[in-house]
Amino acid sequence: KRTPLISGNWKMNLNHFEAIQVVQKLHYLVPKEVFDDVEVSIHPPFTDIRSVQTLIESEELDFSLGAQHCHFEDSGAFTGEVSPAFLAKLNTKYVICGHSERREVFGETDEMVNAKVQAILKHGMTPIMCCGETLDEREADETESKVLGQIEAGLAGVTNEQIASLVIAYEPIWAIGTGKTATSDDAQSVCAAIRSKIRDMADDATADAVRIQYGGSVKGGNAAELMGQPDIDGALVGGASLDPDEFARVIQFGS
Ligand code: 13P
Repeated sequence: KRTPLISGNWKMNLNHFEAIQVVQKLHYLVPKEVFDDVEVSIHPPFTDIRSVQTLIESEELDFSLGAQHCHFEDSGAFTGEVSPAFLAKLNTKYVICGHSERREVFGETDEMVNAKVQAILKHGMTPIMCCGETLDEREADETESKVLGQIEAGLAGVTNEQIASLVIAYEPIWAIGTGKTATSDDAQSVCAAIRSKIRDMADDATADAVRIQYGGSVKGGNAAELMGQPDIDGALVGGASLDPDEFARVIQFGS
């Protein structure tokens, strides 16, 4: 049985004062027993992470700390970058890597994503590795070849045990921030293809353990149907995670 993971990717939104307010409000909105069945990670900008960590740990909140990105080296002359070692030191549990915005806007390649997956694992954290197709690729019937290619390249050299422990986020690029959600059937079908790819690359136990999130315009109103799909084990939520009321509904699968 896979525990669903709902992750709030704030992107470049909310400063560290706002972050505290949003996390506190979210804590009050979600009844404690909800966390028996679902895990929630919060991925603030780097400048907020220390504040959010302190809040989560001092108040013993039921949220896991996440980051949106990191470099693959531990240290060095990489102006502006953040080391996975520093994130681990802040008790960060999950690190998103290979988000389509990092790939498209900052030129991250599959090879860099693979190096990040390995670096995040090396420091005892869990990668949330993103994949997804553009609208052109979907219309050209290239969704599976694009997504499964990203999975194969991103997980190269990663052991079965490590794959079983990590999270894959399927985010169709045309559904990100557009209000267009993939239908639950389309999302399920790609997530099933990803699981079957992992079955081929690794084995049954690994494929049955790996968690696969859907991302792209997830809101309170569509969470239940998406989360009800057999191969969807959670959501990577952008816009809706900035609003505690809306994100609380997503965490409770729409209720
Ligand atoms: P939206 O939920 O705003 O569409 O963003 C999805 C996303 O990119 C999460 O990583």
